[in-house]
Amino acid sequence: MSAAATALPMPSTRPVLRERGQREVFCGLTSIVWLHRKLQDAFFLVVGSRTCAHLVQSAAGVMIFAEPRFGTAILTDRDLAGIADANAELDRVCRDLLARRPDIKALFLVGSCPSEVIKLDLANAAERLNREFYPEVRVLSYSGSGIETTFTQGEDNALRTLVPLLPVDDAPQLLVVGCLADVVEDQFRRLFEALGIPSVHFLPARRARELPPVGKGTRVLAAQPFVGETARALIARGATLLEAPYPLGVEGTKAWFSAAARAFEVSDAHLSACIEPGVTRARRSLERYHPLLAGKRLFFMPDSQLEIPLARFLGEELGMETVEVGTPYLDQQMMACELARLPEAIRISEGQDVEAQLDRVRESAPDIVVCGLGLANPLEAEGITTKWSIELVFSPIQGFEQAADLAELFARPLVRRARLML
Ligand code: SF4
Repeated sequence: MSAAATALPMPSTRPVLRERGQREVFCGLTSIVWLHRKLQDAFFLVVGSRTCAHLVQSAAGVMIFAEPRFGTAILTDRDLAGIADANAELDRVCRDLLARRPDIKALFLVGSCPSEVIKLDLANAAERLNREFYPEVRVLSYSGSGIETTFTQGEDNALRTLVPLLPVDDAPQLLVVGCLADVVEDQFRRLFEALGIPSVHFLPARRARELPPVGKGTRVLAAQPFVGETARALIARGATLLEAPYPLGVEGTKAWFSAAARAFEVSDAHLSACIEPGVTRARRSLERYHPLLAGKRLFFMPDSQLEIPLARFLGEELGMETVEVGTPYLDQQMMACELARLPEAIRISEGQDVEAQLDRVRESAPDIVVCGLGLANPLEAEGITTKWSIELVFSPIQGFEQAADLAELFARPLVRRARLML
C-alpha cells in the first residue's frame, strides 16, 4: 500500500465571506429521510416536538399506512411542564416500538431543539436501553437539532456514533464513507473489484449491524463532503484519509478512483483500462448538456454542503459560471481538493445572512439559484429560476453513469423557464 495517502490535507488560504445572520437551512433531522432508506434494519426515533414530526414526515412524503422506519416521540405539554418523567416515557415508547417491530435491529434516538429534549440525556437513555435490549437491538443516539446541525450534518452525526463500535482490523482495506444510493454503491464496488483493491467496505453498510472494520491499514475515501466528523473519528482510530475531490461528474469521479488506486498501488495502465469505458460513456452523455448550460450563471445558497463540488463540476465540465458558492460551514480538511480546483473569481461564503445574500442574488441576476425549499418559491415569484438543493441529496448523482443525470437536474429548470418565456 502506498504512503502517498496523507492524514491531513492542507487548508486553503483563499478568502471566505463569513456570515453569521439569519439562515434558511434545514436541520439535521432531514438526513433521516435518506438514512432510513439506506439502513434497512434501523429505526430513527426523533425525540422532539410536533414541528420535528412535521418536518421529517413532509420531507419524506410518507404514506400513513406504511410501516416507516422512523417516527417521532412527541413531547406533550405534560412533558414540557416537567410533570411526566420524560425518561420513563421514552423507555416506554421504545419498549412498545421494539415489541411491535422485531425487524428493528438498530434504534437511533435522535435529539432535537426543544429545551426539554436538550435536558434529556439521550446518550444515557441509549445506554440504559442497551442494557435491556442488546444484543437483539443496538440503541444509539445523536443530535439532529437545528441549533447544532444543518441538513446533511445529521448524517455525519449518525455515522460518527457507529465509529466506536467498528471492529479493529489493521489489514489493508478501503473504507468508503457517506451514504450512497444502492445503485451507485454497486457500481463503485464493481469498479474497486476490477481495480484489484483487496478489501472494500462502505459506511454506512445496508444494515446498521454490519459494521466494517477499521485500523492502521484502513484508507478512508469520503463519498460525501459532509462526513468530516466521521472521517476524523476514523483517523483517531488509526485510519488515513485519502485526499480526493468528490465523485461528481466525470473528472471528480476519475480523480476519486485515482486516489484509491494510488493508495493501493494500482498501476496507471490498469486504472485506465478499468475506468476509461465509464469515462468515455459519461463524457458522451454530457455532450448534449453543454449547449444548454455553458455560459449560464449560477448562485448557490448554503444548504447541503455539496455546493462547492457541484460548482467545480458545473464549471469544469459544462462551462457554467458560478457567481457565489455558499456553504453552511466550510470544512477545510474535507474540501481541500475541491477548493484547489475552484476558480479564484468565485466568491465563497460560509454561514448565512439571508437578506444580505438575497440582495447579492438580485444584484448579480444569475440564470439559476440553487437553494432550499423555503427560498425557492419567493425567488421564482421574482422571476428567478431555482433548483431545490434537497433534490441533489436525494438523487443518485455520483459516479460516471450518473453524470448526465446530474447535469439534467440543472438543465431541466432552465429549459422549463425558457419554454415559459416563449
Ligand atoms: S429545527 Fe429543531 S424544532 Fe425545528 S424541526 Fe429541526 S430539530 Fe425540530
